[in-house]
Formats: sequence, structure tokens, C-alpha cells
Amino acid sequence: MTATARAGTPARRVTAAVPDVRIAIDGPGSSGKSSVGMAAALILGLRFVDTGLLYRALAWLATRRGIALDDGPGVAALAPDVELAPDADGRLARVRVDGRDVTRSVRAAAVDRMVSEVARQPDVRTALVSVQRRLAADAGIVMVGRDIGTVVLPGADLKVYLDASAAERARRRALERGLDPEGPETAAIRADLERRDAVDSGRAIAPLRPADDAIVLVTDGMPFDVVVEHVVELARARLAAAAADGVEGRGR
Ligand code: C5P
Repeated sequence: MTATARAGTPARRVTAAVPDVRIAIDGPGSSGKSSVGMAAALILGLRFVDTGLLYRALAWLATRRGIALDDGPGVAALAPDVELAPDADGRLARVRVDGRDVTRSVRAAAVDRMVSEVARQPDVRTALVSVQRRLAADAGIVMVGRDIGTVVLPGADLKVYLDASAAERARRRALERGLDPEGPETAAIRADLERRDAVDSGRAIAPLRPADDAIVLVTDGMPFDVVVEHVVELARARLAAAAADGVEGRGR
């Protein structure tokens, strides 16, 4: 079975009850897009996909198989071995390689340092963009990444770009990893986030940037629940407007 077919098969079957709305959430590392996207998806009854896991899994697998990170065709050829998997709530927030759950491994700091090199390869992006579009075609979804609003789902009903200062993002990442946010590791995390932002924003294909029609939320000092609530309200407003117009599915 291919990555596409596997990735499109969440454990909890999607039914017609899933609202027909596509939400793109983009932003730099540790901007909160995955946790906010997951919470919003649960509240709205939408599916959820964390696309960063696909790039991370390919980078991780490439090093294990001895494939150079800048060998675009070689890395892209690994895509069928990677599958997204549902968590207990049916959200595609886990990743498997050869049937083994490697979510924890691909989130390691070592992968943070190499993933952007893989993600800038055109062959890799072509392979993964088609996986992501197929996933979004099934039913309503919250998809998070770097280029969802600009490239993967340019017709998304709602585009949100979550941002926060590098200091705030490093602090959040340190807390996530159980580290002292004031400790020396946080400075290293911050340097790594900034380096990754520079590669992701500077690449020729699908650079990290807000779509022209994205709503940009800078979340420094904003409690998590407030950000989630804001995204949920925006989504509900879009759904209501689409229902009032009688043009559900518009712009896809
Ligand atoms: O979101 P996360 O930090 O897990 O993403 C890891 C890396 O994957 C990013 O730094 C970026 O290089 C790449 N990525 C991407 N496009 C996406 C999602 C992630 O280029 N849609």
C-alpha cells in the first residue's frame, strides 16, 4: 500500500457529518500550529493532519537508509514507506515507518536540524504535496504546515498564519521537552528554530510565508485556549457565511 492510500485511511471513519470546510494553518516551528490545530479540529468535528510529520519522517528515514539529505529523488522515493496514523481521537498526528510508530523519534532535536534540508528538495515536495491534497479531498479538515495556504490548499475556506517571537517559541519548545525555559538549552533551541525559519523562508519552492488572504495571529502572551477559541470562531463564521450563501464547497 502506498503512503497516499495509508495516509488517507484514518481509523475513525469520516462520515458525511464532518463539516465541509478546509482550514489551513501555517507558521514557523513551535508557533503552536499543531496543538492549536488539533484542539480546533476536535471542537469543530474536523479531521486533522500535521504535515510536518511527513517531512520529518522522510528526513529520519533517509539518514537510517544512508541516503543523502540533498538527494531529492532518493529521499522522495522513500515516501511510500511513510504513513500517517490516527491518534485516539482519529487525528492524523502520528507517523509510522514500516508499520512502526516513529512519532517520538521524528520529533527529536536531531531531526529538527536536518528536516529543512530535505523539505527544500523539489522532488520531495512534489511527492508530499500530492499526498496532502488527496487527504484534503476526502472531507473537512484542519491541515497544518508551512505552505498549506499558499500551495497545498490555495482555495482553503480559512487560512490562519500563527506566529510568535523566536524567544517565545523557544520557551514553548523547552517546556514541551521538560527543560528549563531559562536554561542554556533554550538558547540552543532558539538558534536552531531561527536557522530552520531561515531555510524554510528562503527556499525557492513553497517558502514559509503567510498567504495573501491569511489571517495572521501573533500569539506572544496569548493563552493557548484563547488562540484556539479565536480559530474556532473564525472557522464557524466561515461555515455560517458559506451556509447563508448556499455556496458550500466554493473556491476549491
Ligand atoms: O511543523 P514541523 O516543525 O514539524 O515541520 C518540520 C519541517 O518540515 C519544517 O521546518 C519544514 O522544513 C518542513 N515542512 C514543510 N512544509 C510543510 C510542513 C513542514 O516544508 N507543509
